Amino acid sequence: MPNRPARIAVIGAGPAGFYATGHLLDAEAAIEVDLFDRLPTPWGLVRAGVAPDHPKIKAVSKVFEKIAAKPGFRMFGNIEIGRDISHTQLLEHYDAIIYAYGAQTDRRMDIPGEDLVGSIPATAFVAWYNGHPDFYNLDPDLQVDRAVVIGNGNVAVDVARMLVLAPEELAPTDTGDHAIEQFAKSTINDVVIAGRRGPLQAAYTNPELLELGELQIADVIIDPAEAALDALSQADFAEASQPDQRNVETVLAYAQRSRTTKPRTVTMRYLLSPLEIRGDGRVEEIVMVRNRLERTDDGSIRSVATDQTETIPCGLVLRSVGYRGLPVEGVSFDEKRCVIPHAEGRALDAAGQPVPGVYCTGWIKRGPSGVIGTNKKDAFETAGALLEDLAAGRLHDPLSPTIKAIDALVSDHRPEAIEYGHWQSIDAHERALGDPHGRPRIKLCSWDELLAKR
Ligand code: NAP
Repeated sequence: MPNRPARIAVIGAGPAGFYATGHLLDAEAAIEVDLFDRLPTPWGLVRAGVAPDHPKIKAVSKVFEKIAAKPGFRMFGNIEIGRDISHTQLLEHYDAIIYAYGAQTDRRMDIPGEDLVGSIPATAFVAWYNGHPDFYNLDPDLQVDRAVVIGNGNVAVDVARMLVLAPEELAPTDTGDHAIEQFAKSTINDVVIAGRRGPLQAAYTNPELLELGELQIADVIIDPAEAALDALSQADFAEASQPDQRNVETVLAYAQRSRTTKPRTVTMRYLLSPLEIRGDGRVEEIVMVRNRLERTDDGSIRSVATDQTETIPCGLVLRSVGYRGLPVEGVSFDEKRCVIPHAEGRALDAAGQPVPGVYCTGWIKRGPSGVIGTNKKDAFETAGALLEDLAAGRLHDPLSPTIKAIDALVSDHRPEAIEYGHWQSIDAHERALGDPHGRPRIKLCSWDELLAKR
């Protein structure tokens, strides 16, 4: 153990980064944590990912505020590790680094037309309506008749729901004002959610599916023929998990509903994969292929294309087929799974050996899965491994582990960096703006606005 507090850098101020920080600062050992984020705002997907009409989920930020108030905590925002400060430079100053920067980009579908105007990754659309400054200017055209959402996860359900909310449902939320304006002008009257497998294999969770049935101005539509399980799913149903069974039951119940007078529809489709997005310069239609299901050797169910295709006219395609992690130079990366290879959170080198002082947690450790709470257990495992290594003297041995040297590193390489107090002034400002309107906050959404509060 060094004869001074151990200095840990945590990269990424989202749920995984905060939970890991909290666990370290609660430990008996003397530890100081510097939490880095590339944005001037913390909380990761709690701010920039969770749907604005889910304020209860966002309430977890109170836990993060308590962690930030612990002695030994500092935050540096507006610094990108790998761009402003390298992994090697961090290693010169910290006893250990925990990478917790998530999965910032989208998975590709690799089909023709994927990059036409009007074909947008759901990850970008979500970031846009949530006021992420990198996506402030995304400017999606919502003055079209139909949107098609590809994918059957919770993000697909979130973006579909956001597209059909009534203005009164959006008004009390912290959706970016630029997005509220665009949603108000939207002419979308049908949102198709297309899953490549069946209702039993869908990745969304039941509370999210149930919400689709309670929308103020949109009906959920499912063709009974498509809701009916195929033979393989029928065989699997009895052994399926209760949540998966509930999903099927909900889909079957929706299929019995009749259309009401609500002006919008969310149409749920199954066993359809995208083949091609077509249009003259921008999205006009999407060609889908009908799938059948097949059991693989490992017992899982996969979709296999048939020769039946169908073309759906649409002006917007949201590709919601998952987030994807990116590497940081100098840190091993599993190119296939897009995660940092690890053992219990200890980053591994190319030979599969733990790299002293390098750890990972959250989506960059396990891939983009689970809910916010999943990161707590995940971060505790990583922080626990780090604490064990600290006690055993197995951490990395930095050259200049002083606060002075770290402050110089930051000011030399990123003079525009901001500290936690800056975020607190953004936070107070946003809340004060929102308060008279009964909104949790009105977000500052552009880099200029955010950095002007510096
Ligand atoms: P996800 O749950 O992994 O869903 C991805 C979906 O994309 C799956 O339906 C998958 O189908 C489909 N897909 C993948 N590749 C495809 C392709 N080439 N063509 C067609 N479909 C394809 O991912 P997500 O929706 O991005 O969510 C990420 C995580 O955040 C999840 O754990 C989710 O639960 C969580 N989240 C939670 C909430 C909430 O709690 N309210 C909200 C948002 C997100 P297959 O299953 O066939 O692979």
